[in-house]
Amino acid sequence: MPIERRDLLLAAASLAVASAAGRALAADRPAGYAIVGLGTYGLGVIAPQFANCRHSRLTALVSGDPAKARAAAARYGVPERSIYSYETFDQIAGNPDVDIVYVCLPNSMHAEYTIRAAKAGKHVMCEKPMAVSVAEAEAMIAACKAADRKLMIGYRCHFEPYNLEAMRLARAGAAGKIRYLRSEHGFIQSDPSKWRLKRALSGGGSLMDMGVYSLQAARYMTGEEPIEVAARESTDRSDPRFAEVEDMIEWLLKFPSGAIASCLSMYSANQNHVLLMGDKGRIELEPATRYDGNRMWTGRDGRAQEITPPPGPAPTQFAGQLDHMAQSIRTGAEPIVSGEEGLRDMKIIEAIYLSAREGRAVRL
Ligand code: NAD
Repeated sequence: MPIERRDLLLAAASLAVASAAGRALAADRPAGYAIVGLGTYGLGVIAPQFANCRHSRLTALVSGDPAKARAAAARYGVPERSIYSYETFDQIAGNPDVDIVYVCLPNSMHAEYTIRAAKAGKHVMCEKPMAVSVAEAEAMIAACKAADRKLMIGYRCHFEPYNLEAMRLARAGAAGKIRYLRSEHGFIQSDPSKWRLKRALSGGGSLMDMGVYSLQAARYMTGEEPIEVAARESTDRSDPRFAEVEDMIEWLLKFPSGAIASCLSMYSANQNHVLLMGDKGRIELEPATRYDGNRMWTGRDGRAQEITPPPGPAPTQFAGQLDHMAQSIRTGAEPIVSGEEGLRDMKIIEAIYLSAREGRAVRL
């Protein structure tokens, strides 16, 4: 029976997948990233950061806008053959210059592109929130495991000097026994047409966006996993911005040690703050989780001392994050903010929404 051209093409494609998946990252070669989604974050924040990286470079772009992709490719030295559309994305399997796909799309598209990237034999960096449900997050982890690829979540604060120093001080007992944490994150949404305010794309309101920072801070500052959550929401549903998603949501987390975290996210005020209180003092960050300009104080008995942390592992938190993934692939170690870490947050986020909806505390 003659071999069909289609069969040959399929065989070639699967060989390309196998060879890309099997190819180890050589020590002398920076990891190649493809950015999917050339929006405010992917193109505006991440793309320029490769200039600060030691182990990573930008090698491909995926966009629905060919002109934008071509302009970005010219700016960052990406060859035209390494520009993909959402339709041709799966052909990235055959591109040996791409080791990692960085998913910078609206939240509801994270799962689809993570799973397609893993099937194409690529490692995945996925933006926060990891997904819009626990089920999606679990499917993403399973797809990356099945393809023997690494999955990391874009939790940049784990590479940011102020947050790193705050974690170190908290673990070293600078505040004594941790009793309480407060964290509020918000910004003002002004345009009702934005995808962040459309449930089908965002999966939820401020909690899915800025709330992730408050939740993450509660977990990495206490170093504990919550056992119970109690939440309530306050949204003006007559406001056209909030027809589909919540504006303000507040939640209490109870930790095994007895410590409590009081967290808040909102889309109707600007706030960026973390405060940790212990029986010997406090650690406070404000702004706490910005791209730059964060500040920190430690204090006892009402006296506060401003702290300047030592430099982080890379020139910027973004470069630290990008290079950490590259090094994880090289050494075989799990990224410090893996898919499992994103899944833990997704489970708490679902519990926060359940608690707010049903007006009761939810055990985790
Ligand atoms: P954005 O709207 O600026 O960009 C989204 C990109 O996705 C655009 O290029 C858009 O064209 C593309 N896209 C493809 N299909 C789309 C669709 N159906 N609807 C809308 N856009 C579509 O958003 P952003 O601020 O860049 O956010 C992208 C992701 O990055 C989000 O998950 C967000 O939570 C995350 N993010 C993370 C940080 C951080 O500090 N880690 C900061 C900002 C955003």
